[in-house]
Amino acid sequence: MSLANKYRPKTFDEMIWQEHIIDILKAQMQSRDVVHHNYLLFWPRWTWKTSSARLIAKALNCLDLQNGNPCNHCANCELINNGTSLDYVEIDAASHTGVDNIREEIIDKASYPPTTLKKKIYVIDEVHMLSKWAFNALLKTIEEPKWNVCFIFATTEIHRVPDTIISRCQVFNYKKVPDSAMVSHLESICKQENLQYTESALKIISNISEWCVRDAVKYVDQVSILWDLNEENVARFLWVAWESIIKETLQDIKEWNREKIFSRLDTISSQGIDLSQFAKQAIGYLDQHLLEDTDFFLKCSELFWNIISTIRRYPYPIVAYKIEINKLLNENNWSTTSPKVETKPVIETKPTENKTTWEAQAKPQEKKGIEEPKQIVNNEEKVENKPIESAPSSPKDYSWDFKGLRETVLSKLNKPTAQSNLKDQAIIEKKEWNILDITVITAFAKTLIENEETQKTLEHLLSEELWENISIRITFIKKEDYLAQKMWL
Ligand SMILES: [Zn+2]
Repeated sequence: MSLANKYRPKTFDEMIWQEHIIDILKAQMQSRDVVHHNYLLFWPRWTWKTSSARLIAKALNCLDLQNGNPCNHCANCELINNGTSLDYVEIDAASHTGVDNIREEIIDKASYPPTTLKKKIYVIDEVHMLSKWAFNALLKTIEEPKWNVCFIFATTEIHRVPDTIISRCQVFNYKKVPDSAMVSHLESICKQENLQYTESALKIISNISEWCVRDAVKYVDQVSILWDLNEENVARFLWVAWESIIKETLQDIKEWNREKIFSRLDTISSQGIDLSQFAKQAIGYLDQHLLEDTDFFLKCSELFWNIISTIRRYPYPIVAYKIEINKLLNENNWSTTSPKVETKPVIETKPTENKTTWEAQAKPQEKKGIEEPKQIVNNEEKVENKPIESAPSSPKDYSWDFKGLRETVLSKLNKPTAQSNLKDQAIIEKKEWNILDITVITAFAKTLIENEETQKTLEHLLSEELWENISIRITFIKKEDYLAQKMWL
């Protein structure tokens, strides 16, 4: 038996990362005399779709419920597991879109009572594919629910399902399984199967499976038949890149080194790595490490998204990479740290190859004297009116570098726990007058920073650093929401 089948969830409790659904379903099954629902199951991406529909079907019919879970051994569970009951029907809407199909397969038959099971179950997969007429015909049937008939619709595109259908169903949103949960799920399978594995190998698998548990388990199965599950073997088998290659590529981009990036891309391509997959892997990596270098990583995410969306236009995928990377390197006003940089007048007329590093591009131009730089061409802005000062006795200018400010202040904070947690869970957003806005993205960081003593010390250190009386204003936003917000900005 393949691992994917062996580890397919057979009870609600085995569906990973779906606790919000499991509890409701189990409670409903246990008080089943009040259950007359039709269900609409919605997935962001295909995962255990028919398995989950089948689980509900079994639980509704099971003769020996186990704490809300189907028992999997009673006559009814077995009929559904084997697909041998006429009362359990699975239909793929993608190939049965028409009104005639729906009438023939469902509406006519649903009027007869079940023959073997307690309830007749109709599972309609990819229900959004049905035609308008098919939906209308179906609507009449589900509007007058019978206690012994239940519809379970499944879709990956809920926005294409008519509201009239949605409002007559109980809707369950299945969550994407995050990498951490996926990796520990794969780990537990490896342990049960006595497979040699490394965590980094499982991370690659999780990453390329794009939240699909079944695919992830399938890859584990395929690679482990031949070799140990280590990074090298997984990369070799699935034609994907090791994490170190992604890191090195990002470093080349950060160093602004066109030649190095292009030659690395050639190497990656000649190793047979799937370049569309590589872009997706890179996005996955960037998402997981976003807080290490947020602005730069967001910029890179955008780069890889552009690559994914244009890659099909070119006969050779590598061309899409080179074009998009070239575009990015030619932008001369992008910045890693401060929005201010973008609005500053650019003094030089063109970016030159000499500006090699990301930092050189990112930092604002420093002006040493009052005299106008000679190279200004077509620059409408009056540079001489800009305040210019660099007296050694003035405070360090952090206006473009809140990250630097955070590092400096935290290094002076004599509280190791706060130090290490605030390092990547608290972000200085902006300074308005003497108020510094700080976003914290975990509840723990919030507790730390709201501690009266810590807050006072931080304000004191910040005031010292910025030469004015600083107070801090704290906002708590959950990490996922914060990153999503940043993405849209
Ligand atoms: Zn049963």
